[in-house]
Amino acid sequence: MPLLVMKFGGTSVANLERIRNAAQKVKAEVERGYDVIVIVSAMSGKTNELVGWVNETSPLYDAREYDAVVSSGENVTAGLMALTLQEMDIPARSWQGWQVPIQTTSAHGAARFVDIPRKNLDAKFAEGFKVAVIAGFQGVSAEGRITTLGRGGSDTTAVAFAAAFGAERCDIYTDVDGIYTTDPRITSKARKLDKISFEEMLELASLGAKVLQTRSVELAMRYKVRLRVLSSFDDTNETSGTLVCDEDEIMESKVVSGVAYSREEAKLTLVTVEDRPGIAAAIFGPLSEAGVNVDMIVQNISEKDYQGHERPVTDMTFSCPVDQVARARKALETARDAGSISYEKLEVDTDAAKVSVVGIGMRSHAGVAARMFSALAQEGVNIKVIATSEIKISVLIDRKYMELAVQALHDAFDLDKAG
Ligand code: ASP
Ligand code: MG
Repeated sequence: MPLLVMKFGGTSVANLERIRNAAQKVKAEVERGYDVIVIVSAMSGKTNELVGWVNETSPLYDAREYDAVVSSGENVTAGLMALTLQEMDIPARSWQGWQVPIQTTSAHGAARFVDIPRKNLDAKFAEGFKVAVIAGFQGVSAEGRITTLGRGGSDTTAVAFAAAFGAERCDIYTDVDGIYTTDPRITSKARKLDKISFEEMLELASLGAKVLQTRSVELAMRYKVRLRVLSSFDDTNETSGTLVCDEDEIMESKVVSGVAYSREEAKLTLVTVEDRPGIAAAIFGPLSEAGVNVDMIVQNISEKDYQGHERPVTDMTFSCPVDQVARARKALETARDAGSISYEKLEVDTDAAKVSVVGIGMRSHAGVAARMFSALAQEGVNIKVIATSEIKISVLIDRKYMELAVQALHDAFDLDKAG
């Protein structure tokens, strides 16, 4: 039997009527001849409520009990989905993580998959059951305790089942109808993509993160699971939504596929640090230990002069999320007090935003950076820092120009037009 994985997010199972609506979509696939593994999230808002209860009961909670409580939302929707399908005469059975068993590490609250044995589900399908409904987001540790995978984890459950069972596709039903060229709230010209590569999807995290847990995309890329994002509120068919797939499947692609952004960025500059071997390690080691997610890094040329110093000096600039600035400052001051680095001052600019253009076509096309910079120049947007990777060019700019920059780049790369 061909097999599909269908995952329904919180808004798609928010109440009994929506569960019935989702079950109709499952029924349609069964009638097309598929066996189906359904992965469900908790009803929307449920997990937040459970997390709140845990925090209120015990601020420094035991993570094993956090998982015992927080995993329960999915148990409810899994049972209700199985019952709903049975009422529609579809033979269905629900499974909590430990019953499969979905084996994970013991990292409570952030567990990772170890193995998903097929035996139990295969036996049920062989008995004539058409649908296995799996509680997403959870598993069981080697110690036999319930674990959870981190917020948004049921996407990753879905991809892991699709990989383990060789599913034809993994359909992620949510409340948006696909992945867009940019955030439609920033420009009404944003266009839904039919297909996007795994790599681009990972780079477009700012657009996709609310839709897909990043880890699920990484897993899909590793196991080449074709992933489709579509809305459970629309009438859907084989071509609905956006397919996230291997780039080989994308025949024709534009040079740039999307414009991503990150609104709350900060730029930090260490003025006059020594220019010597090991200085970068001495700066970024402590930042990493302090949990600062450093993104862009620029070391300025130091040949200018010694500026009255005995040895060559340079400036080092980097960016990180605004809410990590205090941590970064403390880590750098501690390193300076300990004598491992020295600097004249630390300049902090907390009014930055990052805008990026992303596309696998950049690998084979020159001139993307020039086009990007001239589009920004025409709008009078000043660039503070530039960083590039194989399929992405990012600039740090003043936050107040972020929307304008996204719109200008969306126009400059003709993203409102298909193909
Ligand atoms: N219910 C969990 C959460 O809200 C897992 C999920 O929905 O993916 O994070
Ligand atoms: Mg989600």
